[in-house]
Amino acid sequence: MENSRRDFLRKGALMGVGALAASQMGFASALAETPAAGPVFTLPDLPYAYDALEPYIDMSTMQIHHGKHHAAYVKNLNAAVEKERRFPANLEEVFANISKYNDAIRNNAGGHWNHTLFWNLMRRGQANNVPNSSLATSIQATFGSFENFKEKFKNEALARFGSGWCWLIKDHKGELKIISTLNQDNPLMLGKKGGKPILGLDVWEHAYYLKYQNKRADYIDNFWYLVNWDYAGSRFAV
Ligand code: MN
Repeated sequence: MENSRRDFLRKGALMGVGALAASQMGFASALAETPAAGPVFTLPDLPYAYDALEPYIDMSTMQIHHGKHHAAYVKNLNAAVEKERRFPANLEEVFANISKYNDAIRNNAGGHWNHTLFWNLMRRGQANNVPNSSLATSIQATFGSFENFKEKFKNEALARFGSGWCWLIKDHKGELKIISTLNQDNPLMLGKKGGKPILGLDVWEHAYYLKYQNKRADYIDNFWYLVNWDYAGSRFAV
């Protein structure tokens, strides 16, 4: 249904301008090649099984979070993109110019991109899960110790009122910083005040409420078992 509607809209747009121009210029056959439509975004598979993050994040939460919430961001993003005349396939370009876009794009592009990053920033839980490589060195230098970093990150994640995300970013000077954003905003939308997300934690209630109810602090504490520091480290390195 989505595709046929899109084809219909695309053909309709062509009839308005393309058909007239093409017939006037003798290029009727050019209509056979429809110009590329806007990008179509798809829900990526999780990089692990739904129960892989147990017991820290339970299977039901992951099934609903990925299969319902993330899926809805993708669906609604595609619906919003259909109404745009031009739309970049690379969402980071959208975030860099976010003031040009409406709230449907902002919320759903953010939702899709943030969750895709979040899934990849986790893996099966492990004890003594600590950062490595240059990221470890930089965390140490910036925050004094990994323990101090975790405490500061937790405080920021707890202080985010309502729905949002807590981030470790590499700012425009290459320095590490902890910030949080509202709703599905992310640090790529903040221009000079933002930076590249190295680590992100979803603190919407849908991310933890089934297992943790109101205990967001416990959810944050358990996140540290799950962080894929190899991936976070590779994001920091480039
Ligand atoms: Mn979420």
